[in-house]
Amino acid sequence: MQVDTLRQRLRALGARPVHEQHLLRLWTRALPLDTTTVRRPEHWLPAPVRAALPALQAELDGLARLRSSHPGADGSVRLLVDLADGQAVESVLLPRGGVCVSSQVGCAVGCAFCMTGKSGLLRQVGSAEIVAQVALARSQREVKRVVFMGMGEPSHNLDNVLEAIQVLGTAGGIGHKELVFSTVGDERAFERLPTLAVKPALALSLHTTDAELRQRLLPRAPRIAPQDLVEAAERYARFTGYPIQFQWTLLEGINDTDEELAGMERLLKGKYAMMNLIPYNSVPELPFKRPAGERAAEMARWLNRRGILTRLRNSAGQDVDGGCGQLRARALGTQAA
Ligand code: SF4
Repeated sequence: MQVDTLRQRLRALGARPVHEQHLLRLWTRALPLDTTTVRRPEHWLPAPVRAALPALQAELDGLARLRSSHPGADGSVRLLVDLADGQAVESVLLPRGGVCVSSQVGCAVGCAFCMTGKSGLLRQVGSAEIVAQVALARSQREVKRVVFMGMGEPSHNLDNVLEAIQVLGTAGGIGHKELVFSTVGDERAFERLPTLAVKPALALSLHTTDAELRQRLLPRAPRIAPQDLVEAAERYARFTGYPIQFQWTLLEGINDTDEELAGMERLLKGKYAMMNLIPYNSVPELPFKRPAGERAAEMARWLNRRGILTRLRNSAGQDVDGGCGQLRARALGTQAA
């Protein structure tokens, strides 16, 4: 379902914009659509809207239902979430008030190191289903930050993701730079993001500075040279005033080399950005390996010494099938090809 469909249905029942906004506010904050809590006269709902609320509540609750939850030692909790048509996606409650949501069931980019990419794209996640993942997370714990880094490539479901971002940044009360649009890099996203009322922060999955290697690792990502990706991201960072978060999944012997370090220095020096090095979370189904901890730490130190702000991070919940798409793959019994 799309949020816009929901708005149209409310309007057809006589709701005015103030009523729509009030109901969206309750929903996005995981509060019941309960007229007994309404104190401000402008929020009093027309009778047909009030009559429709129980069915609407049931429908919204059914958009994203918790199938199972898997707490990790790092304070994150991976959630397997059922959508209304029986498909499932993953959300992750992150430490310090974040939630990572999925924008697609499966993904067409086909990153060689990702379980989600193995299934291909099964379907888009509607804007209301994205918002519903946040409402579900908020029913579990406080959420102040939403990152679009779960299953799927947000640029491939751009209208729905951007609609969800507008709702979360207004009715949902989430700070604009606490909404993080994560992409492998796509012209359509670079064009649209600066035009939005709610401009999210941008995370860019770079993974390598070598164009040919990038094509092998991210076979169906748009063919944009790493240097051009960095320049496009830098323009957005300067425009919004939020630094870019570059993501780099560290794969042993592949992109943890001295040549890559030199490439990162060449591309990123002086950029308004943070580099996040994320040691790969090995899975038996895929041939990639996690580099030794000391190598990852040495890379972070080397970059920081050269003025490239770098953090060494772990993907959340890696002790509980923490790699993208692993939980869903296990639960549904699908395996890598
Ligand atoms: Fe898609 Fe992200 Fe997995 Fe790549 S890493 S296949 S973009 S979900």
